[in-house]
Amino acid sequence: MAGIQGYRLFNVRLVRKTVISPSLLSLVFSGPEVAQMKCDAPDQRIKMLFPSADGTPSSLPAEGHWYPIAQALPKEKRPTIRTYTLRHIDRQRCEVTVEFVNHGTAGPASAWAVNSQPGEALQMVAPNAEYAADSGGYEWAPPAGLRNALIVADETALPAARGILESIAGQDNPPQVQVFLEVPEAGDCVDLSAFQFAEVVWLARKPVGAQHGECLIQALKADARLPENDHRQPVQEEAEGELLWDKASAASTRFYGWVAAESTAVKQLRRYLITERGVDRRMVNFMAYWAKGRIR
Ligand SMILES: Cc1cc2nc3c(=O)[nH]c(=O)nc-3n(C[C@H](O)[C@H](O)[C@H](O)COP(=O)(O)OP(=O)(O)OC[C@H]3O[C@@H](n4cnc5c(N)ncnc54)[C@H](O)[C@@H]3O)c2cc1C
Repeated sequence: MAGIQGYRLFNVRLVRKTVISPSLLSLVFSGPEVAQMKCDAPDQRIKMLFPSADGTPSSLPAEGHWYPIAQALPKEKRPTIRTYTLRHIDRQRCEVTVEFVNHGTAGPASAWAVNSQPGEALQMVAPNAEYAADSGGYEWAPPAGLRNALIVADETALPAARGILESIAGQDNPPQVQVFLEVPEAGDCVDLSAFQFAEVVWLARKPVGAQHGECLIQALKADARLPENDHRQPVQEEAEGELLWDKASAASTRFYGWVAAESTAVKQLRRYLITERGVDRRMVNFMAYWAKGRIR
């Protein structure tokens, strides 16, 4: 495997766009190179390289390390890089699907998802099928025989959360899963009834005019089924400007948590679960997928 990277650059073109719900778009990209893409986990992340500030589409060379090459470009020529979830690969058809939150056109990625037309070229950095080992870039890694899981997500983490539910559905003995999903509006609450092992609580912000994460925190306080324990411990807050990213490390089959949402919301959820409810911090992944008012 010497010289072969876990992630590599792929050249793709948009082939079709589907509206999943008012706030979510599904974009399918294709290109012969997709046959060399792989997916190791349902929440595996990819980097999408959107046009630079001056509108030039990303055209980095496939050889070499893409990041230093991108950084060496003049600022206005550098691709705009954002993190997304690898939702689905169809290697036979050479198609890869990414689901985008439509949060308007202020963010370059959301704007591209809204305005792009079939045929437009894009580059993405995704797991490389030639790399035989695990490429990493994901956090959902529950212990075998897990009995209880908690999934907490906002709309940006909904693609990963659905992928996780699909992966659990493939298991012979799925755990009991409690899922809290916060989305902008009621129309975004898509049907997840096929996942009978999961108790899904949908929360829409719009009718109550709630802030990002507010509904999640209230719902968890009211209804979360958490393991009995007494680990109450303070959490170390991140330094100013640092995004929270805590990976679970304990291999207890009793409980496993996956929390991904807006930064402030995730901090509040961590404080509630770890400090107030005494959940063992090693049992839960806490991930700031984005930060309100901040460009990633
Ligand atoms: C591991 C990982 C996986 C992710 N997977 C997905 C995914 O599959 N689908 C997806 O849509 N997002 C996903 N995200 C989140 C995505 O990377 C961010 O939302 C990103 O900031 C969007 O880039 P942008 O160019 O649209 O906006 P930016 O230029 O980053 O931000 C512009 C402004 O928009 C605000 N903003 C950013 N995102 C949102 C939002 N969702 N709602 C409201 N305001 C927002 C910012 O705070 C800022 O004020 C993921 C993030 C991570 C870390």
